[in-house]
Parts: sequence; structure tokens; C-alpha cells
Amino acid sequence: MAKKQFKTESKRILDMMINSVYTHKEIFLRELISNASDAIDKLAYRALTDNTVALAREDFAIELKIDKEARTLTISDNGIGMSAEELESNLGVIARSGSYAFKNDLTEQEKEDKTVEIIGQFGVGFYSAFMVADKVQVISKKFGEDGANIWESAGADGFTVKAAEKAEAGTDIILHIKPDSEDEHYSDYLETYQLRSLVRKYSDYIRFPIKMLIEKSRPVETDEVDENGKKRTKYETYTELETVNSMVPIWQRPKSEVSDEDCAAFYKEKYFDAEAPLKVIRIEAEGLISFKAMLFIPGSMPHGYYTKDYEKGLQLYSNGVMIIDKCDALLPEHFCFVKGVVDSDNLSLNISRELLQHDKQLRVIAANIEKRIKRELKKMMEDEPETYDKFFKLFGLQLKHGMVANFGAHRELLSDLMIFSSAKSDKMITLEEYAAAMPEEQKYIYYACGESLSKISALPQIERLRAKDFDVLCLTDEIDEFVVEVIGDVDGKKFKNVNRDDLELETEDEKKETDQKNEDNKALLDFVKETIGGELSAVRISHKLVSHPVCLTSDGPITLEMEKYFALMPGENKPKAQRVLELNADHAVFASLKAAFETDKDAAEKYAKILYAQALLIAGFQLDDPAGYAEMVCSLLK
Ligand code: ADP
Repeated sequence: MAKKQFKTESKRILDMMINSVYTHKEIFLRELISNASDAIDKLAYRALTDNTVALAREDFAIELKIDKEARTLTISDNGIGMSAEELESNLGVIARSGSYAFKNDLTEQEKEDKTVEIIGQFGVGFYSAFMVADKVQVISKKFGEDGANIWESAGADGFTVKAAEKAEAGTDIILHIKPDSEDEHYSDYLETYQLRSLVRKYSDYIRFPIKMLIEKSRPVETDEVDENGKKRTKYETYTELETVNSMVPIWQRPKSEVSDEDCAAFYKEKYFDAEAPLKVIRIEAEGLISFKAMLFIPGSMPHGYYTKDYEKGLQLYSNGVMIIDKCDALLPEHFCFVKGVVDSDNLSLNISRELLQHDKQLRVIAANIEKRIKRELKKMMEDEPETYDKFFKLFGLQLKHGMVANFGAHRELLSDLMIFSSAKSDKMITLEEYAAAMPEEQKYIYYACGESLSKISALPQIERLRAKDFDVLCLTDEIDEFVVEVIGDVDGKKFKNVNRDDLELETEDEKKETDQKNEDNKALLDFVKETIGGELSAVRISHKLVSHPVCLTSDGPITLEMEKYFALMPGENKPKAQRVLELNADHAVFASLKAAFETDKDAAEKYAKILYAQALLIAGFQLDDPAGYAEMVCSLLK
């Protein structure tokens, strides 16, 4: 039979496994045992609803067998098994190919380094077998099928799949252990005590028994009599199948026994994350519905997060059986970045997975979990602000979407988790902190929206606020304005948008003065408005500006930032802001404009257009006619 070829990427990985100088080759055992445990999980789950599965929960087991003569180590499980097609597709292709994207132009040394990095971070599943074996056979019988098959490969040149004999469903992985070399004593993997310690080190919490034949000795009475007339006892050796792991999963073990490092290691391996989690949350709830949970707040963005393909959910176990891999109902949308495991013995399992999703018991657990995540985040915010900053950079946007969703239904829960950049401080601040630092005369919470912190800080319309030592929240996410609207107020203090609202910085007298200036310059302001045309809804003298001659703001509910946001969305007739050009009447440029208006209308038109173009640029808009603008500026420079 012709050999089948591995997929290119798999072949490369396999090559690296075979030639690996990775120092922790022993992890192959962890990888194979974890696959065996997954396979048993699948059959154990099926047993709940399918009475053709004759095995009871306690019958499931993984077994390690050593044959020193043949130099083989066999890892057997009585799990779901694989059909011939599955053997081919599962073991012929690297499953998580994303993690193994290699460049062709790497040097040998770089490839080696990369291998070490990959193995260290992700493990490499089944392929790690080739770090210690020069030939691997997989005999598997899929549950519910009649025949069995054997997959066999001696390395990167390919594999075969043939019919084979096997009585029960499940899989035997037979590793033909490499001969010892100068650097590596592979025979260790044929020693019972070595394997036992590896199981304890890496796979202790696997929830199914991992059994090995252990050599023991016991006393036996003989007929011989010693000098005192007593019967002599001799010791004989015998072997007994013994469970070598403690079978208690990490989330079931008492908190005192499990360190943060243990939890982090578990997380990294389970979720293929190179970064440790920012937070581990452990819940032991007693009561009407008791459950244990181990939850993680990731320290890096999960793969595909913020895309519609991302599936949220926690893994749900009941009575030691994994019921749902990603149970959506356990996590609210706004905390969908959380990963972890929930284990409860009280769930009624005679209902289907779909029904279980809507089960009342789950809702109770979910409510408890939501409260706890909120509490932990708040604590992180208060006790570890730097970690919280990191968290917020990753998942702040998720919380903001949560704020805005369902007409602000989660406002209470989420609003005190918000942090914002501020014009005054170089770190993110909470609304509480903002409010606490407000000078007495400051009545409102001011915010400005824009693309970046630096662009916002340079906005002319925050000049007057700065001069008064009022801080300004700098909102750079498109959704921020909606968030602020949902929050509404902080201890009765309302928000004011520097791009839209009357900042109410003036005294009554000052206000009168500005009104008067507007009145006095009405003809000029009308002229400017007319010159610019339909885009502008108003031109007025500003009270916000200090050193800048102009700024662009808006009237009405749609702000400039909202207009930009809508512009990016598909569709026609998108809402536009009512643009307002504000002029600084105390600026020299205003005086020039005024003089030109009185003596030279052509020049005045040019001034008006240039000022508007500048206001647009500062506000982050593009000019419709940049060449025309440049020409106008040049004509004045001549
Ligand atoms: P991963 O476990 O990350 O998916 P592996 O390379 O370890 O990647 O395994 C590939 C696939 O082969 C598994 O997803 C599983 O479907 C199948 N597999 C591996 N070992 C077993 C086993 N002992 N029993 C049943 N299926 C298995």
C-alpha cells in the first residue's frame, strides 16, 4: 500500500519533533494522556444519553504498558476511538496550524529556537510522540463501528492506515522508543517508576484513572522452619494494576494546595496562551446550587476576539463529566473574554444540551459568576491599577459595548469599571477620580472626542478649560460618546462635550459680552457662512478659544465624532452633524478678516475659506479640495 503524505505544515513539525533537541521531551506523555482523557470524555458524555454504551463511569481508564524487550510503551484508552478516516485526518494534519505558522527563510538555529518556543508554550499534541519514538502505531476502534484500524508512521516520509484487530472501542498508541544516544537516555521511558513520576508531575489531575502494572513484593509463608522453630517468610514479587494519578482536577483541589503558578500553568496549557492570565478567580459556592469554578481573565487577546467567529462560554462539568465545552449561558456578553471551568454536581442531566443552556440552575450559577467577575475587576482596579490598565486595553471595548447594549441595561454593573484618558494626567482615571479632582467652581465633567490623545490635547476648544485647570476626558474609541451618554452623570454632575455644548464657563456678564460681539459682527458672520455654503449651520464668536483663531464644533444631537463613525458604516443618507464654525474675536486673524471684509471682499472670502479648512483639519476631517486650499494659502504668502 502506498504511503500517504503528511500535509506540508505537519511534515515540517514532524521533522522538528524527530530531530528535536528540546530538553523537556518528557511532555510527550502529558500530551498523549490528555488526548486519551479527551477521548474518554467524549464517550462518557455519550453514555449519559446512549444506553448502548455499556461502560459505567468507573470503567473508564487509561493504561500505560511497558514492554522492555520490544522497547515499546503503549498508552491505551477506552474512549470514543477513531475511524479510518479520522485516523487519517486527525493524525495527518496539524490541528492548530495557526500556532505553527513558520517562515521558510528561517535558519536552522531559528527553527530550533522556534520549536522550543512552540513546545514550551502550546505542547504539540500527538506529534510530540516522535520526540521519543522512531515509530508510532495507533490502533483504534471507533465506538459503534465493527472494524478497527492501525495507523503507522516512522516519521516525515508518510503514514499508512490498514485494517486491524481490536476487541473494544478505544485507542492504543504504541511508541517504539528510540535507542539511547549520547545525550539522551530514552530507556527512561521504559521504566515504571519514571513514568509514574511523570504522570504525577504532569497528569495528576486527569479525572480518569491512569493505571500501570506496578511491581510489588509481598511476604509468603514457607514450609521451612528457622532455628527457633518458626516458619520462614519469603518475599515474592508480583505485579498489580494500580492507579497512579490522584484524579482530582485542579479546580476541585482546595485553594490552599494549588498555587497561582499551578493555575497559570493549567490556563496556558488549556487555552494555548503564552501569557499568564491577569487574574485567576476561584469560586466555591455552597447552597441551593453548589458549584466550583476556576475562571481566568486572559493576559492577551484570545484568537479571533472581536470577530463574530469568537465563541464565548465556560466549560461545564457535572459529576466529573464534561457536559458542554463552551456553555454560552454561563457568561454574559460583557464578560465574554473570561475563560474557565464550572463544575457542579447538582445539574439535572437528563435534559439535552440545548435545554440545559436555558436551565434555571444555570441562570443561578451565571448570576453568581457575573457578580464575582465584577467584584474581582473592581478589586483589580483599586489594588493593581497597572494590571487593570492592561486589562482595559485588551477588553475595555467589550465593557463599553456592554454599557451601550440593551439601552444601558447593564449601566449599574459596568459604569464603575470604566476608565478614561485625561488631558491632565498621563494615566487612565476613573470618573470618581475625575470628580474628586474637580476645582470647586467646576460644575461639569468635560470630555472631548478624537482619534488620538495627542490630537485631542491639541484641540483649540479645550484651551479655555485648560487655562482654568479643568481636566478633560479624552475619548478615543468611537463608542465612547455613547458610553458617556449612558452613564449620564457622576454624583449629579453632568457631562459636557467640548465639541458640541455650551461649556458654561462664562459669567452672566461675559455671556452678555459674547452675545454683544455676535450681534456687532452679524454681517461678517453671515458673510462667512454664505461663503462656505451649505455645509455650515452656524458661524459664531466663541468663548472657548484663547490662542487659536478658530475651531469646529456642532449643534444638535449628532456630534462630529458620531458623523465620522456613521460615515464608516454601510448605507446611504448617513446622519451628519450640524457644523458650527467658532471664531476667536480677540485674535489678530479675526481683525484681518474683519478689515478685509470691509475693504476687499475677495480677500475676505479667501480668509474665510482658509479658516474653515483649518478648523476642519484640526477636527480630523479631510479637505474636499486640498489643492485649492494650498493654492489659497500660497497666494497669501506671495
Ligand atoms: P489536539 O489534541 O490539540 O486536537 P492532537 O495532534 O494531539 O491535537 O490530536 C489530533 C486529534 O486526534 C485530536 O483532536 C483527536 O480528535 C484525535 N485523537 C488524538 N488522540 C486520540 C485518542 N487517544 N482517541 C481518540 N482521538 C484521538
